[in-house]
Formats: sequence, C-alpha cells, structure tokens
Amino acid sequence: MPALWNEADWDEHERVEIIHDRNSGLTAIIALHSTHLGPGAGGTRFWHYAEPDMAVRDALRLSRGMSFKNAMAGLPMGGGKAVVVLDKDGTKTTEMLHAFGDAVEAMGGQYVTAEDVGASVADMVAVATRTSHVCGLPADEGDAGGDPGPFTAYGIYLGITAAVAHKLGKDSVDGVRIAVQGCGSVGGGVARLLAKDGAKLILADINADAAQALAAETGGEVASVDEIMAVECDVLSPNALGAVLNDETIPALNCAIVAGGANNQLARPHHGQQLHDRGILYAPDYVINAGGIINVGWEYLYAQKGEDCDVSAVNARIAEIPGRLQSIWQKSEAEGRPSNEVADAMARELIGRG
Ligand code: NAD
Repeated sequence: MPALWNEADWDEHERVEIIHDRNSGLTAIIALHSTHLGPGAGGTRFWHYAEPDMAVRDALRLSRGMSFKNAMAGLPMGGGKAVVVLDKDGTKTTEMLHAFGDAVEAMGGQYVTAEDVGASVADMVAVATRTSHVCGLPADEGDAGGDPGPFTAYGIYLGITAAVAHKLGKDSVDGVRIAVQGCGSVGGGVARLLAKDGAKLILADINADAAQALAAETGGEVASVDEIMAVECDVLSPNALGAVLNDETIPALNCAIVAGGANNQLARPHHGQQLHDRGILYAPDYVINAGGIINVGWEYLYAQKGEDCDVSAVNARIAEIPGRLQSIWQKSEAEGRPSNEVADAMARELIGRG
C-alpha cells in the first residue's frame, strides 16, 4: 500500500474527491475536512507538483488548516481546500477552470472555493460561470469581496496593537519598534497602518526596491533579508514565507512579540513551545491572518441570500480578532501552555473534534 494512505495528514476528513477530466485536461483534488460549522470554505491552489501524492497531501493539510482558521474566525463555515495540478509549464485554460467549476458544483454546496496561490480573481470569475459556490469575486465599492490582502492586513494591524498592549502594557504602537519581513500585499498594508500610529518600522524584502519604496513611504528603515529575523525590535511581523520560526531562527530572535500574517510560520508545532519557553508572545498565524477569509466568507454567505455584504460589517467582524487573541494568550498564561497549542485545542473544540 502506498505510504500516502498511512499519512498523518488524513485527519478524519469528511470527503476527498480526485477529479480527472479528459476533455479539458483538468486534474484536481477537493478535500473537505469539516462541515460541522457550515460549508467547507478554502481557496484553490494551482500548482505543479513533482509527485501526485504531494498534491493530495497539500489538499489534506490545507483543508484541515481552513477548518481551524474559519472556526477561530467566528465564521459559520467549515474547512475545505482544492488543488489543481498543473503541468510543468503551468498551463491553465478556460476549459480547465470550467471543468473545475463543474466539480465544485458537484459537491452540492458542501465546498466553497476562492483564490489561493496561483489563482487570480479572473480565474474565479471563470469558475463562477459553472457554480455559485465561489467567492473572492470582483466587488463594488463599499461591498465585501475582491482582493483579500487589505482585509488581512487590517486584522494583523489590530492583532499587533493588541499584542503590544498585552505584552508591553502600551495603549498604542507609537514609538514601538516593529520589524516587517515581506513588503507585499499583506506586509505593505500592515506597515502603512502601523506607520500612521507612529510605529518605528524596520523593513525587509527579497525585492529590495519594494522594501526601499515602503521605507520611503512610511519613514521606516531597511534591513537585509538575512538580518530581519534577528533584528532588535519589540515586534517581529513575518509576512512573507512559512516555516520562518525554526531551530535556527528562534534562538536568535531579539523581540518580545511575533505577530504576522504568513501562513504556517512554525516549522513544526514544537517551535511554539520554544517561543513560549523564551517568553516571546506568539499570535497564532491562522487567528491573526483571518481578515481575508472573513471578507470573502461573508461575501459568499450574503451572496447566497441574494444580498451584498457591506464592507463595514466585514470590518466589524475583523475587529473581533484581537479579542480572540487575548483569550488565547490568557489561557496560555493560565495553563502554562504555548499559544499555538491553545489555539489548536480551541479550534478542535469548535469543530466538534475536541
Ligand atoms: P505577496 O506575494 O504580495 O508578498 C510577499 C512578499 O514577500 C513579496 O514582496 C516577496 O518579495 C517577499 N518575500 C519572499 N520571500 C522573502 C524572504 N525570504 N524575505 C523577505 N521577503 C520575502 O503575498 P501576500 O499576499 O502579501 O502574502 C504574504 C503571506 O501572507 C503569505 O505567507 C500568505 O500565504 C499569507 N497570507 C496572505 C493572505 C492574503 O490575504 N493575501 C491571507 C492570509 C495569509
């Protein structure tokens, strides 16, 4: 039996579909982890995988992550995720997107899709010609939907402000030194919001021009990508890659707080324990970076009723993120357990798998 069937990534998933459509050339996996709280929502990743089982593992792992994220975001939605397996050249055709839309429709509303790595808003528009179970579609001014980046950034900004209050006892980030790794859609948005409140920023990006431009705009300074994880600061905000908190980086951290939007920041779960042992306050990534899914989740839920969701209602839901973080940190301190473990346990409880 192939090792795949023994994988720990299988976590009582409710349903996993492998789709192959000869006419369009589509190969896709839709993994539905949990519909306990509502339809399983999570984006579609378009990616070339060296081995097919890597695509299945990605779908399994990412869909479980969405169950946790959506539950902790207070969304009445479960967790799912899809992977479209691309060839080496990354070929993606309208026919494939239509066939994928048919596959989503065949899930009968149990799975709701959106953009993930390799997908554009235009791709979701093509998918939406075949199914209504899709979000992240173009939005009118003042309505939920569209680019999730600014919504994600807003939640992270609120989360950092809450972390500074909790750990440093300050009611504002004014004068607080904050190192931002990654100056893209999320990192750039976080930096701009923090700068408005007077934070002192240290910025790094492999795209040196992006870091320089953001520094000029926000009055920040630039650090090299090699320095940023160990730079002396109050808050380190990872907004680029996953697995940046690992055996190598954690001993060298020179901060009181880690709070940023990158997915899967802990290389392994035990790295949360290492942060805890060092007395560093960690904001679990999937809790603090939920602004984007809150935006498209509510876009979908309103659209199903034939209504538009006002952006102010979405922002009010995003403003609940700091309260969730505070309850995690309080429990973590009361029980002497790392915040990532506390968050996972809370999420499991919410999806009925405690
Ligand atoms: P993006 O591509 O707009 O920005 C990422 C930036 O990181 C780029 O400017 C890139 O040059 C930089 N970067 C890459 N490697 C780097 C390195 N080693 N050091 C420093 N900078 C590096 O992507 P984004 O949408 O801003 O997403 C950033 C992170 O947040 C990702 O981990 C993503 O999965 C996560 N996330 C994004 C959203 C969203 O709404 N966009 C939601 C949840 C989580």
